[in-house]
Amino acid sequence: MPHSDLEELAMLALGDVPPPSVAAHVLDCTECAAELADLRRVLDVGRSTAEPLELVEPPPEVWSGICAELGLSSKGADSPTPGEDSPTYGSPPSSVEDVGTVPDGRAGGDGDGRRRRRSALALAAAAALLGAAAGSGLTWWAVDRQEPSTVAGTSRALDPLLPSALGSARMGDAAGQRKLDIKVEGLPKTTGYFEVWLMDRSHKKLISMGVLGADGHAVLPVPDNVDLGEYPIVDVSVQEFNGSPEHSGNSVVRGAFAST
Ligand SMILES: [Zn+2]
Repeated sequence: MPHSDLEELAMLALGDVPPPSVAAHVLDCTECAAELADLRRVLDVGRSTAEPLELVEPPPEVWSGICAELGLSSKGADSPTPGEDSPTYGSPPSSVEDVGTVPDGRAGGDGDGRRRRRSALALAAAAALLGAAAGSGLTWWAVDRQEPSTVAGTSRALDPLLPSALGSARMGDAAGQRKLDIKVEGLPKTTGYFEVWLMDRSHKKLISMGVLGADGHAVLPVPDNVDLGEYPIVDVSVQEFNGSPEHSGNSVVRGAFAST
């Protein structure tokens, strides 16, 4: 049986009912199950982010890529405008004027492109439209994907609470904002995710700062009104996707961060 495509997996991840064969396949196929888990993880992180994510306008080449993939014209538009100049199907050009205005590229071979299997890019576009409509975390794809601005300086090593974990952190200014730059190597395998916290010295008061990236690194904005004298400790926990906003109690590294 062929693997489920991304759209079918996305339906599952979003809680929609896919064709029964898809649900059955995912139960049996570890590859598709893993892909589904990834999609769910992205959605969960989007939904669980307490602070609104900073959305950026994608660079023009992203729109052109999406438009090309969907077979839409992106010429002269900042954003895709489906329908505005869609060609008519099923009827030959009815006037000389039409023929004259149809660019060569569109006149020939376009149908193949339009019928191409929709890909991740198309899914991203669909998710963006859904997200825009629902105002939800589905706009994850448009979240700032530029290289994170790192905090200059030297990090301080954190205490490993798992023998394999090697973490370090520093707090300082990056792009005019206070940020925590944290990196952890030797993370354990998890079906969940790694959350970064600021703690007071008693480890009783916590503020969630965000999550580690897949590479174990993150540069996280720290609001100016957080008193670092009161929260001088950084902690990274393994969290399960169980909907609980609480610290799991399972920490990987913990310690004081360097201040740059
Ligand atoms: Zn599969």
